[in-house]
Amino acid sequence: MESKTIALVKVLGTEYEILSADPEHKDLHGSGHDGVCDYLTHRILISNLSDWDETEDRKAEYTKQTLRHEIIHAFLFESGLGYNSEKSEHWAMNEEMTDFFALQFPKIINTMKKAGAL
Ligand SMILES: [Zn+2]
Repeated sequence: MESKTIALVKVLGTEYEILSADPEHKDLHGSGHDGVCDYLTHRILISNLSDWDETEDRKAEYTKQTLRHEIIHAFLFESGLGYNSEKSEHWAMNEEMTDFFALQFPKIINTMKKAGAL
């Protein structure tokens, strides 16, 4: 199996296809990443971690975290922020900033729900 579609999602009105792929997939292998967001083809590729010697719980949590990270990249790209940040030291491509949203989003949304902010 090279890859298979696991979801179709809307990112600011644009449909993105989310695919699960073997770590050997050409877009993942050698990249040093377990996820890739291609804003040109509107596809997010996530490794199925078949090469990981880890528990299923840890793999599942890592996969969700990676997916949230790539979805945030998609939102930034679709917002026109992907490549217009040179004067701010590439903040929209900054991995720490993207990880901030990927890690904190579930907490932020829970807080917003409880606060009636949505
Ligand atoms: Zn990233």
